[in-house]
Amino acid sequence: MNSSIIGKMEKAKRYVHERSRINFSEFEADFQGEHDTYHMSYRNGSWRCSCNFFATNDVCSHTMAVQKLLSEMMPKGTLPHEICLEPALPHAR
Ligand SMILES: [Zn+2]
Repeated sequence: MNSSIIGKMEKAKRYVHERSRINFSEFEADFQGEHDTYHMSYRNGSWRCSCNFFATNDVCSHTMAVQKLLSEMMPKGTLPHEICLEPALPHAR
C-alpha cells in the first residue's frame, strides 16, 4: 500500500470522530418500522416519510429517530423537533 493511501486512512480515522465536518444535503432511506417499511427522505431542507402519521403531522417517529442519529451532520435549523428528543430528566416533575 502506498504511503499516500496510508495517510488518507489515518485522516479518515480522525474524521470519523469529527462528525460536525459532515453536512448532509440530501438522502433517502427505507426505515423498518414496527408495522411496515417506510420510505423517508431529506431534500431542500425538508423531511418526508411515507407513513400515515407524517402525512398529517409533518413529523413522525421515523424522521425524529434519524434526525437524532444524524443531528451533528445536518445543517443547523433543520431539526425543528430536536428539543423533544432531549433525554428526559430522571427526576423531572
Ligand atoms: Zn414516518
